[in-house]
Amino acid sequence: MIIITYILSLLSILFNNEPMKLKADFLIFNARIYTLSPNKTIVESMAIDKGKIIFIGTTAQVKEQYSSISEIDLAGKPVFPGFIDAHCHFYGYGEQLKRVNLLGTESWDEVVTRVKEFAQTNQASWIQGRGWDQNDWAVKEFPTNELLNQAFPDQPVFIKRIDGHAAVANNAALKIAGFSASTKISGGELKIKNGILTGVLVDNAMDSLEKSIPSLSKENIIEALMAAQEKCFAVGLTTVSDAGLDKEIVDIIDSLQQQGLLKMRVYAMLTDNEVNRNYYYKYGPYKTERLTVRAFKFYADGALGSRGALLKNPYIDDPKNIGLLLKPVDYFTRKFAECEAHGFQVCVHCIGDSANKLILDLYGKILKGKNMKRWRIEHAQIVSPTDMKLFESFSVIPSIQPCFTTSDMYWAETRIGKTRMVGAYSWNSLLEKTGIVACGSDFPIEDINPLYGFFAAITRMNQKLLPVGGFMPSENLTRDAALKGMTTWAAYTNFSDEETGSLTIGKYADLVVLDNDIMTMPSEETFKAKVLMTFVNGELVYKK
Ligand SMILES: [Zn+2]
Repeated sequence: MIIITYILSLLSILFNNEPMKLKADFLIFNARIYTLSPNKTIVESMAIDKGKIIFIGTTAQVKEQYSSISEIDLAGKPVFPGFIDAHCHFYGYGEQLKRVNLLGTESWDEVVTRVKEFAQTNQASWIQGRGWDQNDWAVKEFPTNELLNQAFPDQPVFIKRIDGHAAVANNAALKIAGFSASTKISGGELKIKNGILTGVLVDNAMDSLEKSIPSLSKENIIEALMAAQEKCFAVGLTTVSDAGLDKEIVDIIDSLQQQGLLKMRVYAMLTDNEVNRNYYYKYGPYKTERLTVRAFKFYADGALGSRGALLKNPYIDDPKNIGLLLKPVDYFTRKFAECEAHGFQVCVHCIGDSANKLILDLYGKILKGKNMKRWRIEHAQIVSPTDMKLFESFSVIPSIQPCFTTSDMYWAETRIGKTRMVGAYSWNSLLEKTGIVACGSDFPIEDINPLYGFFAAITRMNQKLLPVGGFMPSENLTRDAALKGMTTWAAYTNFSDEETGSLTIGKYADLVVLDNDIMTMPSEETFKAKVLMTFVNGELVYKK
């Protein structure tokens, strides 16, 4: 080796070249790279080869030691580890992108126009959409479906109201469902005018029609995933933890990744169903370079908005209601034990204080004490302060959604009252107990942009900068914690901390370059920072 180096340097002298340099696929210079390595170094420069970081240091050091045909001078721009959304619905978001978005429409005419425009560029056997709200229109009445029938005499159209409790179907859709003016559906309503169906369906009538809609073709599923990926790369996401996938979708993701089409890293939480259990209990967790399948997702309770969150004491605004436990306790006990026996992480949706306590106690019976199993509570939204220690006792990770704070802050207290707000959306208190929080958005419920979550976590203000000073500001996360929540800690939560989540030698070059430094710019402007470039495995997947 020494001889070879000697000969090489001799050759370089003979040919009057610079000293021999090591080759790299590309180099980044003059950046402000937040490595998030334990010693918290910010470095200027890095060399990347074969998808991995091979050197970090000053620009001078990198230039001295490496050469590459691709050199990127970032002129001082900040670089972060690729962002990880620790809880989202990547495929669900993609599905939604294949539907017409009717939010903000100001009239029924506008709804129909949008549906027509959508149909011109999207091919599907059914046109589906969501988001209209007749309360936003001049005529605040339910529409009738004539215009849709004229525009789509043969193709079925089904578009839901903003709240998902009513929809309009055209006659082609009603025909497929077998609905007529005499159809009766309990718990639902088919609106009738002058003796004929108007197309407006409420609750169970709507659900009943939905059963006639064929599930997406494989082609459509692929389109949905690819569309979701494109949007996610543009906001700097390089890993998504999908909180509930079927084996069918996991298999498609895997094959798209193997073909090099889907470049996004995916951490899959499996939906708790028989197909998933039968297969994955038999074969165990599955891991490739870009896909990890080693978790099952459960729901303990519902949501706070619809009063389905399971509370220890009744709702303030519904005194006979304590919410819903979605499965019996012994069901959870059995399933958690099965997951543990088969090597799967358990992730449970818990919103209410009772749901959080109950699941943490069940975890405790299996996990017994501190451990490395990285079981998680999804949302951890209302936790009695006295129960927070349970996270610590059983090494349970709170998987939190900072944007929920600012989405719910105007009405959460009317549901649960002032006393229980202590412990609600209490991200910093949880962090103090656990030393770790994983941050997610739960998109498409919230926006996909992880910087919105970062901003909400550090300011607890909405994007109108209200309330002034932030909502329960003692629960703000520091910038450092909020950044770790969507990088290092999220990677740990996904069992990928050896490969992603920080920018150190040997890790995948998953990087995001921003136009502004979210660690130093005014905190109330951080949500406006834009992604300039996103890299996955050292490959440029987005450029502004
Ligand atoms: Zn979710």
